[in-house]
Amino acid sequence: MPRSFLFGTNFKMNQTPAESAVFYQQLVESLQIPPDIHLFVIPPYTSLSAVKDVAGWQPHPIWVGAQNVHWAPDGAYTGEISVGMLRALDVDLVVLGHAERRRYFHETDVELNRKVLAALGAGLRVLLAVGETAEERSFGVGGETVLRQLRIGLHGVQPEQLGQMQIAYEPVWSIGAGGTAASAEDVEPIAKLIRAGCEDLFAGSGTEIPILYGGSVDPSNAATFTALPDIDGLFVGRAAWTVDGFVASFHTGY
Ligand code: PEP
Repeated sequence: MPRSFLFGTNFKMNQTPAESAVFYQQLVESLQIPPDIHLFVIPPYTSLSAVKDVAGWQPHPIWVGAQNVHWAPDGAYTGEISVGMLRALDVDLVVLGHAERRRYFHETDVELNRKVLAALGAGLRVLLAVGETAEERSFGVGGETVLRQLRIGLHGVQPEQLGQMQIAYEPVWSIGAGGTAASAEDVEPIAKLIRAGCEDLFAGSGTEIPILYGGSVDPSNAATFTALPDIDGLFVGRAAWTVDGFVASFHTGY
């Protein structure tokens, strides 16, 4: 089965519920979404309900995602959110392992694996972010880092859950303000490694998993990445935080 094209953004710790709702509404009005495409918007937790109000609480072609989830079903975890809480909001997707979660909140591969399994078990789609730091890259172990994150993150995932999985390759040195835009030559070998890693983990079924690229993507370079054979979409930060920027990056990347 051909893999779908995915495109979306994560607002990180930005936007009030009202701002996220307006963004989503304007996005719906600005785009004709082809049937083989999945778009997604990942606002802060506090905006999820307001965005779902706009989406209509039905399956919508623009998925609404959460930025994190805890692995436990409930309990004494002050400040955390469970998969059941996301399901109660009909959230479509959760991103796990974003570089900022790994860096500032010290999330480990093993913890992320618990989160991946909990989210998949609850029926959520998961976007697992992997990527090497500049330091790891400078020592020539970028590929090893990414493969380790992938292998531990996906440990125990069942073949029948693969339809819920997507991977985002986001080199840490390329994301956010101060990031350096990667070239196609930087991304291609790692995307190939991720594809091979998925095939190795799940035999032939690993080819089903879409791989997105993220890191300083904007309308000027989006097509460079989506032209790569193992890249099936884009995960965009700053350039997609306006509706015009989202639409322009999507149109040039698709
Ligand atoms: C990110 O932080 O995941 C990201 C892709 O950011 P940006 O596009 O702003 O580099």
